[in-house]
Amino acid sequence: DEMDVETIWMDGEYVDWEDATVHVLTHALHYGTGIFEGARAYDTEQGTAIFRWDAHLDRLYDSAKPYELDIPFSRAELTEATLELLRRNELDSAYIRPLVYYGYHSLGVSPAECPTETMIATWPWGTYLGEEALQEGVEVTVSSWRKHASSQVPTNVKTTGLYVNSMLAGEEARKQGATEAILLNKEGDVAEGPGENIFLVRDGEIFTPGLAESILEGITRDTVITLAEERGYTVHDEASISRGELYTADELFFTGSAAEVTPIRKVDNVEIGSGSRGPITEELQQAYFDLTEQAADHEEWFTFVD
Ligand code: PMP
Repeated sequence: DEMDVETIWMDGEYVDWEDATVHVLTHALHYGTGIFEGARAYDTEQGTAIFRWDAHLDRLYDSAKPYELDIPFSRAELTEATLELLRRNELDSAYIRPLVYYGYHSLGVSPAECPTETMIATWPWGTYLGEEALQEGVEVTVSSWRKHASSQVPTNVKTTGLYVNSMLAGEEARKQGATEAILLNKEGDVAEGPGENIFLVRDGEIFTPGLAESILEGITRDTVITLAEERGYTVHDEASISRGELYTADELFFTGSAAEVTPIRKVDNVEIGSGSRGPITEELQQAYFDLTEQAADHEEWFTFVD
C-alpha cells in the first residue's frame, strides 16, 4: 500500500491494511458526520513519543459533543491502541489519525440509529508543506472562499465534513501557483489556513486570531504560545487581524500538527518582511523542533511508546 503500513485499528481490532474498509452506505461518507484528530509521534532522544496526546484526546472527545457521538472507547483504550499500532507498524515517528464517525443504519440525515465507528491509523509522514517550506517559507494566497462561521457549524472542533471548505481553499491556492491558502472569516478578518492556524509578528509582538474568529482550537497554536511566552514574548492570542495587516506584517507563520511551524514568505505575491523566514519565526520553529527532538522540557506533553 501507498502508506507502507500494515495494521490499522478498527473498532477494537487490529486489522490488515487491505481489510480496513467501510460500507458505501456509511452515514459519514454521505453527510460528513465524523470527527477526527491529527497528531504526531516524534523519534525523540528519549524514544518514540506521541506529542500532546492528552490535548488531542481532549479535543477528540470535545469534537464528539455537538454531534452527540458517543465514543465507545475510553481514553486509555484509544491510547493503548495507538501505542500498539506504532509498535506493530514499527514506526519511530508517525502521523496519527483517529476518526470516529456514524456508520450505516439508514440514510436519513438523522444519525440517531447509526452505529458509532472508530478507527486509528498511523503512517510515516514527512513535512506537510515540504522540507523547503520550513526553511524558506511558503507562498500563500488569500482565498476567495470564506471560512465557515462558528454560528453555522462548530469551528473550534474537528469535523470531517468541514474539510470540503479547506480542500476548496487549498486547491484554489495551488491553481494560483501558491502552496497554501489563508481563509478570512465571514466578517472578512483573518481566520486560519485550511489545516493550520496563523500567527503574525509586528514590532516584536506576536498576534494570533482568537476562537471567536471561527478558528480551530489548534494544539500547535497552544504549544507555540507557551514557547513564545517562555521566551519573554508578548502574545496576543485573541487578536482580530484584518486582511491588510497580513501584507504589512514583519513575519507570518502557520502552525499545525502536520505543518508544525511553517514560515509564510509571500501573501498574494507580496513579500512579507524580508521575504524569507523571519527571526522570531525561526526562534519559535527551532524551539518547537528542539522540544520534539529532545523531549527534555514539558515532560507532560510526551506519551512514550515504551
Ligand atoms: N486549523 C485547521 C482547520 C486544522 O485542520 C488544523 C489541523 N488540525 C489546525 C488549524 C492546527 O491544529 P493543530 O495544531 O491542533 O494540529
